Amino acid sequence: MSNVIKAVKPRLDNGAPPLIVDSRERIEESYGDYLSDESRYGPAEADRLIIVHDEAQVSDALVAAADAGVNVTVSAGRTGIVGGAVPVGGVLLSLSDMKRVLGVRRLPDGRFTVRVEPGLSVAELRERLLTKDLGIERSGDDPVARADLDAFLTDDRTYFYPPDPTEDTAHLGATVATNASGARSYRYGATRRHVHGLRVALTTGGVLAIERGQCVARGRVFLLAGADGSESELRVPAYDMPDTKNAAGYHAADNMDLVDLFIGSEGTLGVITEIELLLTPAPEGVLSALAFFGSDDDAVAFVKHARGDAADESSPDIVVPLALEFFDSRSFEFLRRRKVEEGASSEIPELPADAVAGVIFEQEFTEDVLLEIYDAWEAVLSSHGSSMENTWGGMEESELARLRALRHSIAEQVNGVVARANARYPEIHKIGTDAAVPSGALEQMLEFYRGELLGTDLERVMFGHIGDNHIHLNIMPSSPKELRAGKELATRFARRAVELGGTVSAEHGIGRIKHDLLRLQYGDDGMRQMAAVKRAFDPSCILNRGVVFPEELL
Ligand SMILES: Cc1cc2nc3c(=O)[nH]c(=O)nc-3n(C[C@H](O)[C@H](O)[C@H](O)COP(=O)(O)OP(=O)(O)OC[C@H]3O[C@@H](n4cnc5c(N)ncnc54)[C@H](O)[C@@H]3O)c2cc1C
Repeated sequence: MSNVIKAVKPRLDNGAPPLIVDSRERIEESYGDYLSDESRYGPAEADRLIIVHDEAQVSDALVAAADAGVNVTVSAGRTGIVGGAVPVGGVLLSLSDMKRVLGVRRLPDGRFTVRVEPGLSVAELRERLLTKDLGIERSGDDPVARADLDAFLTDDRTYFYPPDPTEDTAHLGATVATNASGARSYRYGATRRHVHGLRVALTTGGVLAIERGQCVARGRVFLLAGADGSESELRVPAYDMPDTKNAAGYHAADNMDLVDLFIGSEGTLGVITEIELLLTPAPEGVLSALAFFGSDDDAVAFVKHARGDAADESSPDIVVPLALEFFDSRSFEFLRRRKVEEGASSEIPELPADAVAGVIFEQEFTEDVLLEIYDAWEAVLSSHGSSMENTWGGMEESELARLRALRHSIAEQVNGVVARANARYPEIHKIGTDAAVPSGALEQMLEFYRGELLGTDLERVMFGHIGDNHIHLNIMPSSPKELRAGKELATRFARRAVELGGTVSAEHGIGRIKHDLLRLQYGDDGMRQMAAVKRAFDPSCILNRGVVFPEELL
């Protein structure tokens, strides 16, 4: 194990030549989709679009841009909601055609990993693993690689990759760049926990080939090796990170692994060209249910009980939630109202008349303990005025479909309402919080939301990953005045989350639109220390310029 960071030569795969589109007009006309992500951040423009097919092409594009002093924006599935993949001039680099599965490896501890290119989507990897149809060239002459692949293919178990960001068209390279997470991250953790290795192309020409455990900081110091054999000190930022799920700013900790510096760096340090992901044996079955409660407070008390963090209520040991997802009372009121407005054709499921708030809970099971698990959840539910009888889901496919439809309709309806307001006032957009707090501060944060929103007319709903104390408050402004009020509130909420020891962004990242919130979390010093790390890897600061950092820090 060493703390020296040393680049190697890019790998030439003899892929098809890159597709290069050199005119702004042609990019707008024929590749317009590449100019936006789900944030609708703008105005977007690109002078050149390069769609690459291998690592050497990524490296060539970066070096040429650095030589010419031209900015490069890295683009993937464009489901991001902070504008990170939106170009603001210069080169737009897409790795979406790099989507091969490259190999399977068995680690000395018996775990399997899969090596993939960054353009493969979460959904595509899931399908390939499920069918074990990986499409790997088996003619390679490395006997160990062949033996590992054979061991994987003949293993009776199914394997999966646990991170499950809701938008499964997201590309794996980007999910690593944003340290994405999802509902089941409550149990499995965010992307970081499942990345074993990376290859990262730098704007200085080389590629870092990093495997977890092989390059580790001494305290907070790495040594960056130059091409001429020199070594310079690279200090990771001195701040403490929040004890929560976190996607804000660079990972920084004593004795940290170099892999972790790149995970969540939002493409500001280098371009990920290959990922080695840890695989997990798939559970025999998953119990999913939406439970209904008589109040928001009952729902929150149920969550705390199920997590086992209420001092006076220990949950049975057999209760091991995979996910805990909340819908507040305003979410249900909002959906009921929208269902009436949409009329008979509405696809929003009819909620039970007495349902005020809800929590989706999930747990893995094996047949032999299913009844025991069912009874244990019943005991927890009944302590909070709910019951298994009063849930949607369980083992019934029709009920699971209703549950999925409900989950889907909340985000869709919010976006629909905001889009209508936006048609009237083009500056209007959704205001969505992404803060998370430590477990002990969940109720304080909820109290703060309520107190600040009390007496305002802002249309809003709260839903999301309550298991991780990470609830999205979505405000739907209907006028420019409401937009201003909502934005001020969002800043106050982020500040409060930081005061409570939390993060301003648990999963969406900072991108081009949340620099100020990151400053709330790490202060000016922390921002400067992060910018110094960026300059060490990307001296000309051309890569994803404007993402994570404001211009004045570069
Ligand atoms: C309805 C909806 C629900 C969502 N739910 C979740 C959720 O539950 N959890 C969650 O975490 N996110 C969620 N997101 C956000 C989004 O899906 C994630 O951030 C996802 O990881 C982005 O992947 P992408 O391929 O779309 O990346 P893009 O939006 O194309 O890019 C995201 C960032 O990654 C950088 N990047 C892309 N590829 C590379 C690369 N190869 N090397 C270096 N940098 C790169 C880009 O420059 C950009 O900064 C949601 C989004 C939507 C619209």
